[in-house]
Amino acid sequence: GDKGPFLNEPPWDWSQAVHRKRFAAALEDVRKKFPMKVPLVIGGKKISVSREIHSINPNAPEEVVGIVSSAGREEAEEAILAARTTFPLWRDTDPGVRAEYLFKAANVARGMRYELAALQVFEVGKAWSEADGDVCEAIDFLEYYGREMIRLSAPQRMGQVPGEISHLFYEPRGIAVVIAPWNFPLAISMGMTCAAIVTGNTVVYKPASQSPVIGSMVSKIFEEAKLPPGVLNFLPGSGSEIGDYLVTHPQVSLIAFTGSKAVGLRIVELASKTPEGALSVKNVIAEMGGKNAIIVDADADFDEAVLHILHSAFGYQGQKCSACSRLIVLEENYDRLVDRLKAAAESLHLGSPENPQNVMGAVIDPSARQKIMEYIEIGKKEGTLLLERQVPGSGGHFVPLTIFTDIRPDHRLAQEEIFGPVLAVMKAQDFDEALAIANSTPYALTGAVFSRSPANIARAAKEFRTGNLYINRGCTGALVGRHPFGGFNMSGIGSKTGGPDYLLQFMVPRNVAENT
Ligand code: GLU
Repeated sequence: GDKGPFLNEPPWDWSQAVHRKRFAAALEDVRKKFPMKVPLVIGGKKISVSREIHSINPNAPEEVVGIVSSAGREEAEEAILAARTTFPLWRDTDPGVRAEYLFKAANVARGMRYELAALQVFEVGKAWSEADGDVCEAIDFLEYYGREMIRLSAPQRMGQVPGEISHLFYEPRGIAVVIAPWNFPLAISMGMTCAAIVTGNTVVYKPASQSPVIGSMVSKIFEEAKLPPGVLNFLPGSGSEIGDYLVTHPQVSLIAFTGSKAVGLRIVELASKTPEGALSVKNVIAEMGGKNAIIVDADADFDEAVLHILHSAFGYQGQKCSACSRLIVLEENYDRLVDRLKAAAESLHLGSPENPQNVMGAVIDPSARQKIMEYIEIGKKEGTLLLERQVPGSGGHFVPLTIFTDIRPDHRLAQEEIFGPVLAVMKAQDFDEALAIANSTPYALTGAVFSRSPANIARAAKEFRTGNLYINRGCTGALVGRHPFGGFNMSGIGSKTGGPDYLLQFMVPRNVAENT
């Protein structure tokens, strides 16, 4: 039927006691199920293997959230075979029918909202509202890409020459491998997976090894939406064991990846070698890192700016590719803004996300912790430590909330993605210099400007070259359908998620011209 226009799923309004109570209850309920046993799903069959991933709570690593079957090459081959066998049927299923499965899946996910978000508090350490935001975004992707597929399924008449009827239309590429990150463990997994599904590809989906339990919910949601078996195959496993194997497989036509620059570039390189017997030249969609800056102009509204800076830099412990890791402040305001920022950052509650007052808890795992701690040491040599606040608690993978000043554009802290709660403050003499600093990294993902000057805003829109630029707003939290998300240069190739050209990456255009 007619779906009506796309609207973003509204997040819970926490001022209403009912949501606070239900969320607290969901945390208790979901915890009772730990450790959750999670099998692979290949061709609709649940398969348990002896090799396992233990998924743990980053704030309390002794708590095992799930014990997840971990695929090896044999299971990877079976998954490819299942996807291959199902492909012709799924390719030839009417796009409108494929879209219906996404709308059904959206309804299933709506019914599970508390549970899906509660799981994220434990498995990846998200604060309540961050977890809820991730679930809303997953629902948005289903609703948006479903509508997009319906729009794109109408063949386009080409030319108006008498005696000829020529149409352009789109078909799926074949088998898609989806390699997903842990930081938006439902939303980004769901976005890449449902885009591949609705365009008619069959999918082998590998969740991140830090978030395989939430990853399994993608499979569960589509199972409950009655997606035909074999269209989506759920294949948790280690990157070194099955990642390269899937990417280089001759039957695979498409790889959708979100994650680090290092892994993204490796996938691009591996996928560029066309193996013997390959079905097609592989297409890679990769969304990688960022080194995002917020510029605070001389006439900015500080009350607004400080709140957004803190949220962009420290929300989810800075573990977003969109996070603000550089703050560029005009000289005349520098001291005033830095004082305000410090005082505001001192007032934030830190600790386990089980308690909703806390805005920042543990980072994802020990290797993330170690990398962030190394950068904090580098920062202490390169700049001046303004603030270093430990997260109270013991045992979790905690790193301090950290702000440095006196960072220069050539410093490592100004150039390299840290993926943690570390903010580098930089001084600019004027707006020209601020823009030059903002553009001086290998990345081009997000950015923001706080200004009340129309001329400077117009300049920033043109000259602050990022995939997503926000004016008088923080640089995280892109909304599906409103802020098509993704960058260029070292931040990514492919196109923007939640935008009108995303699904085209998952298809090949065909043209049929008939002489009449
Ligand atoms: N889309 C998210 C945002 O706008 C970031 C996604 C990511 O970190 O990969 O904040």
